[in-house]
Amino acid sequence: MPIQSRSTCWTEISLMSQGLHAWVAEPGTEIEMTSDNHSTNRALQKDASAWAEFTGTKYTAALRQMKDPLAQGILGGRVDARHLVDVLEEHSLIGARGGGAVLGENGVGAEPSWTFNRRSDFIELALITDMLRMFTPVAAGETPEVSSYSLKHTAERFLSPHCSYVSNGRLIWAAAALGLPIAAPSDGGPNLLIGVSEREHDYVNRMVTSGRTQPRAHHYQPAGYTHLQTALATLASGQPFEGHWVRPASTSEERPFHDWLVHQDGRDDVVGDFASDYSAAVRASDHGIAHTPDELLAILREVRPSPEAYEAGRQAIAEWMDTTPDSTPVRTERIRSSVEDVDGYGAGRGDVERYEYWCPCGDGTIIEEHDNVPGFREHDVRIDCDKCRAEWRFADGRSVHAWGLEPIAANGAR
Ligand SMILES: [Zn+2]
Repeated sequence: MPIQSRSTCWTEISLMSQGLHAWVAEPGTEIEMTSDNHSTNRALQKDASAWAEFTGTKYTAALRQMKDPLAQGILGGRVDARHLVDVLEEHSLIGARGGGAVLGENGVGAEPSWTFNRRSDFIELALITDMLRMFTPVAAGETPEVSSYSLKHTAERFLSPHCSYVSNGRLIWAAAALGLPIAAPSDGGPNLLIGVSEREHDYVNRMVTSGRTQPRAHHYQPAGYTHLQTALATLASGQPFEGHWVRPASTSEERPFHDWLVHQDGRDDVVGDFASDYSAAVRASDHGIAHTPDELLAILREVRPSPEAYEAGRQAIAEWMDTTPDSTPVRTERIRSSVEDVDGYGAGRGDVERYEYWCPCGDGTIIEEHDNVPGFREHDVRIDCDKCRAEWRFADGRSVHAWGLEPIAANGAR
């Protein structure tokens, strides 16, 4: 019975202004094939021949690597062995033909020699390629900033146990073949700078490096992180992995409050200081992004800032609400709710709904109650916290169900 396998047509595109090339699948060209399909097998055979010749491996051993489930491309198409070999000749920065730095196992300019184990060398390069695919590449014109040496350590920890050693040279090789922007640092040396998002790399490095502080928020988690981890774990257990991953289109997420707050960094007042601390904590993944003032209050309840820092945050919210015409009053998270059946007083049964929310400072609560009893309909909401009662008030013109809070300005203007 023929086994269904997937194959992809490849097209070479010019990706970077430096004339680097990447092999990517043309959209819409994926076709179902059977295992005896000529083009699938021919591509694998040609790759195996090229790899066998380049590494001094037997053809059958090379073909076994080409067919390994780990080498089929997890976050993109199958890595092309002939392209990998060509890159070492033709790449504008690390290609031997360019006459520049020559790449070897330890990086550029070092001994230009490679040591191939002839069992898993190609599979490992395919895995390093997938590890690199997980990151967002830097935008055109942006300078690469992540050292190949630090990426190589991240790669071997992330890919363990599939690939427990990654040389600096192989990391650079895979990045070059993938068409990532690459630059030589001004001080020379064997390491190059690779054009992947520095923040995303730092996130992954902290996740996989024991002894480093784990990120507490995940806004810098690379798009392909979970998919690749799941695939590697599934394949490690000997199960096939079928999932297909598509890089999400870059969305410009709406977060006007966050953007406004970050913009206040540098002001010479308490709001400026608060904005500076907030921005630094977001950069370090110490806490998440506050899309809204509500989310900022939730973050503050979690990190328990000093009373001064909390007050500065409250002032920032007040200023944002004063200067943003379509801002909405603040709501806090609900802690608990209950509905109690009660006897009506002669007019039938009813119930009492009670909801408790955090107060803004987090030391007390906001209590919302509805008496739904015939003849005794009452709706009430109140702040059960002395501090917050002095600092916040309920916005006008809203029903009890739709309550919202506004900061009371220091001068009592609100
Ligand atoms: Zn409070």
